[in-house]
Amino acid sequence: MYRKLAFYIDGEFLGGDAGSGGEVVNPATGQVIGRLPHVGAAELDRAIAAAERAFPGWRRTSPLARSDLLRRVAALVRERAPRVARDITLDEGKPLAEALVEVESCAEHLEWHAEECRRIYGRVIPPRQSGVRQLVVREPIGVCAAFSPWNFPFAQAIRKVAAALAAGCTLILKGPEESPSAVVAIAELFHDAGFPPGVLNIVWGDPAAISRHLITAPAVRKISFTGSVPVGKQLAALAGAHMKRMTMELGGHSPVLVFADADIDRAAAMLARFKLRNAGQVCVSPTRFYVQRAAYPRFLDAFAQAMAETRLGDGLEENTQMGPLANPRRVAAMAALVEDAVGRGGRIVTGGGRRDGQGFFFAPTVLTDLADDARIMQEEPFGPVAPVVPFDTEDEVLRRANALPFGLASYVFTESLKTATRVADGLEAGMVNINHFGMGPAEIPFGGIKDSGMGTEGGAETFDGYLVTKFITQV
Ligand code: NAD
Repeated sequence: MYRKLAFYIDGEFLGGDAGSGGEVVNPATGQVIGRLPHVGAAELDRAIAAAERAFPGWRRTSPLARSDLLRRVAALVRERAPRVARDITLDEGKPLAEALVEVESCAEHLEWHAEECRRIYGRVIPPRQSGVRQLVVREPIGVCAAFSPWNFPFAQAIRKVAAALAAGCTLILKGPEESPSAVVAIAELFHDAGFPPGVLNIVWGDPAAISRHLITAPAVRKISFTGSVPVGKQLAALAGAHMKRMTMELGGHSPVLVFADADIDRAAAMLARFKLRNAGQVCVSPTRFYVQRAAYPRFLDAFAQAMAETRLGDGLEENTQMGPLANPRRVAAMAALVEDAVGRGGRIVTGGGRRDGQGFFFAPTVLTDLADDARIMQEEPFGPVAPVVPFDTEDEVLRRANALPFGLASYVFTESLKTATRVADGLEAGMVNINHFGMGPAEIPFGGIKDSGMGTEGGAETFDGYLVTKFITQV
C-alpha cells in the first residue's frame, strides 16, 4: 500500500478524498500508484493566512521549546524510516537502501537544527558615548515559502523545514508533485510531534501558479528553492521584483579532475558508485571527468567496467544497485545527450541507451572522444551518463573546469599536496572534495556559486537566510 496523499493547511490534512489532482507513477513499472490532490488559489490564501496567524506565537516560543519539538520529530523519523523509505522507492525509484539512508540521515539534520537554534546569538557593540547601549539582535524573517524537488524528496524538504521552523519562521512548502509521499510523511511527522497549526503548511499543484501566488503575496518574506537553474532564475527574478529574500540551490555540472599521480583504480571505483547514486539524479553528482593523459586509458577502462557491472532493477529488489530514472523526461534527456555526442564523433564506451521493458531505465553510460562543446560537456546530465576526456596540464584543466556558468560541487584526485592545494584554491565551486566525498552531513554548509545558486543550507550558516538583523540603540 502506498501512502494516502493530502495537502496540509493549518493543522489539517485535506483533499485526500478528492478525485482531482495529478497521478503519481511508479518509475520502475510505469504504473499509477496514487492521486495527489492539488490546491487552488483559495487554499493557497488559507495557507498564507494560517502561516501569518501562527507566526507571532511561534516566534515567541523559546528556542528550547522549538528544539524539543524538533528532537521529537527526529525520534519519529528514526521510528518511521522504513515505511517512509519504501514509499520514496515507489514514487521516486531509488534503491530502498539509498532511500533509507536519505531518511535516517535527516534525523541528524533535525537534531543539528535543534541544537543550533539554541545558539542564535546577537551581540553588544561598545558605544562611543557613555550611557548608550547598542544591541544587535537576530529575528526570524517571518512567513517563508519553500519549493523542494523530487530527487531527494525527504532530505531536501527537511533541510528547508528544519531551518525555517527552528529559526522561528512559519512555512508554506510546495513539494514535488511527481514524488510526493516523503513530503506528506513530513507533514505527518510534524503534526504528530505537536507543532502548532499553521507553523508548517504543505501544498501541491501547478508549480508555476503556486510559486507566483506565494512569492507575490505580501505576507511571504522569504523563498527557498531547490531545482533547475532556469526555474531558479525565474523565481529569483520574481522574488527580486518583490524584494523577497531568497536561498537558491540550483543545478551544477561538477568537474572531476583525476591527476596521473592519483590512485586510479580506487578513484574509478569510487566515482562509478558515486556517479550512479540515485541514477545520477543528484545536483552534486560528478558529471565531467577530466583525466590526465598518462592515466586516461587506465581510468577509462576501470571506470567503464565499474559502470557496466552495476545491477539495474526495481529499487524494492534487494540486489538492485541502480533504479530507474524518476520520470520519462530524464530518459529522453539522456538519449538526446548521447545522440548529440555520437553525432559529433563521440564514442560510447559502455551503455548508451534505454533498457527494454517496463519502467524508465537508462543504462549507465560512459562517453569519450568528445570536444568541450558537446552538449554533455556543457549541460548538467542529471542522469547516468558520464563523459570522460583527457587533459595535459593543471592550468588547462582548471580553465576547462571553470569555463561553465555552474559552481556547485567539484572533485579532485591526486596524491600531491601541492596540486590539491592549488586546485582547491583555483576551482570556482561552492564545494571541493579531494580524494573522497565529504558533503551532506548536517554540520557542513551546502551550496553553490555562479549559476548554481545563492546561500547555503546546513552548517553554522543554516539560519542566515531565515533571520534578519535588527540594531537597537538606547540611552
Ligand atoms: P524542471 O526545471 O521542470 O523542474 C525542476 C524542479 O522545479 C521540479 O521540482 C519542479 O516541480 C519545480 N518547478 C518547475 N517549475 C516551477 C515553478 N515555476 N515554480 C516552482 N517550482 C517549479 O525540471 P525537471 O524535469 O523536473 O528536473 C530536471 C532538472 O531539474 C535537472 O536538469 C536538474 O538540473 C534540476 N533539478 C535540480 C535539483 C537540485 O537538487 N538542484 C533537483 C531536482 C531537479
